[in-house]
Amino acid sequence: MNSLLLSQGRVIDPANRLDQVADVLIVDGKIAAVGPNAGAQAPADAERFEAAGLVVCPGLIDCHVHLREPGQSAKESIATGAAAAARGGFTTIVCMPNTAPAIDNAATVTWIRERAEQQGVVNVYVTGAITRNIAGEELAPIGSLKQAGVVAITDDGHCVQDHELMRRALEYAKMFDLTVMDHCQDYSLVAEGVMHEGYWSAVSGLRGWPSAGEEMIVARNIMLADLTGARVHCQHISALGSVQLLRAAKAKGTPISGEACPHHFVLTDAAIAGSDAFWEKDGLALFPGGPTPAKFPEWPAYDTNFKMNPPLRSAQDREAVLEGVADGTLEVLCSDHAPHCDFEKEVEFDYAPFGITGLETELALSLMQLYHSGRMGLTDLITRFTLGPARLIGLKKGTLDVGADGDVTVFDPDAAWVFERNQSASKSFNSPFYGWPLKGRPVATITAGKIRWRLRPAALA
Ligand SMILES: [Zn+2]
Repeated sequence: MNSLLLSQGRVIDPANRLDQVADVLIVDGKIAAVGPNAGAQAPADAERFEAAGLVVCPGLIDCHVHLREPGQSAKESIATGAAAAARGGFTTIVCMPNTAPAIDNAATVTWIRERAEQQGVVNVYVTGAITRNIAGEELAPIGSLKQAGVVAITDDGHCVQDHELMRRALEYAKMFDLTVMDHCQDYSLVAEGVMHEGYWSAVSGLRGWPSAGEEMIVARNIMLADLTGARVHCQHISALGSVQLLRAAKAKGTPISGEACPHHFVLTDAAIAGSDAFWEKDGLALFPGGPTPAKFPEWPAYDTNFKMNPPLRSAQDREAVLEGVADGTLEVLCSDHAPHCDFEKEVEFDYAPFGITGLETELALSLMQLYHSGRMGLTDLITRFTLGPARLIGLKKGTLDVGADGDVTVFDPDAAWVFERNQSASKSFNSPFYGWPLKGRPVATITAGKIRWRLRPAALA
């Protein structure tokens, strides 16, 4: 028997409406006891973790991660992506199918699952493509993908433009009890856009990606969810109009959901004009009531680490995404961790690939913008990282029920720290957040009762 006792942390388990100082005992990989005196049941040889002053919660789940394997392992591998997840406090990640080749057949699903089992330090679940080769032309074999173990289907990175094909995808997905996740982008409206269409795209001389390019497909998905009864999940919501559409649809019972990524609720399109433009106005909202940092992080205009898809939008959109997360319209928080090599990002803004890494800064940025800002309590915030994604894809995780998997995250909600390039476990360095003053830090990541990563105690002093 191997056992682990986390003693006297602030245990927050939204599924059981628990928020109290307690012990968590994990025996043989499963939660064995939770309570103020659960430690009394610990075997004498149990490994012990002193969690006083720290939050202990169900293992965090990130349902939107690009692991780049197979085919693009210069950017990331299953092993390094999972290691970055562990450093970020995530016990479970869900990888996207836009690999090379795409995850559009059972053999690739099996290959990833086996490799993740051997090399991944955290739990890895796989999504399959909606269409063959993510080309948007004919459906992937959805039934055999499900049999091979995918937890959802998505063409993420791309968007099925043919509404009739999307309708059939939803009908199949419903038959197989799969959620369809969608990257909402209307190609005709977005065309060659590289940043949000608005004041700053005009100032910067870059082609705009209008909010309507996202809202159009969110509206389409609502209509098709109503038509088919299938569950549709709108990925990385960035625009105010999308949040409004989702809120109204959920109120009338449409089986639709949405997610938010920290970059969309921390940054704005002003960041593409450089750090001075950002900190002059939009950036100050990150420090409500002060104090502001002694030194603000700096970056040049046209920095490609601020280029992602969908793009950073206006301060108004940022506020709408925050409100959407706080009121539950967007029930899932995730990173859209999208690693790229330096040489790919070190080109002109127009030519750089979209996307940034995010697993290691996601918890801190979410705590800052949602909890420290007073918008949400810790229980609701943890729900967006645990029960929210677990329900979305039907995982029996995200709780500390006795008998549940022994996946636990320990974090310090108040620790101040700075994210540095040399601290990352990812292979890639395309983060806009190096050198940022952050508040809230993962301390330990535990899956099946084993500590997979822990912060050196000196770092917390
Ligand atoms: Zn996407």
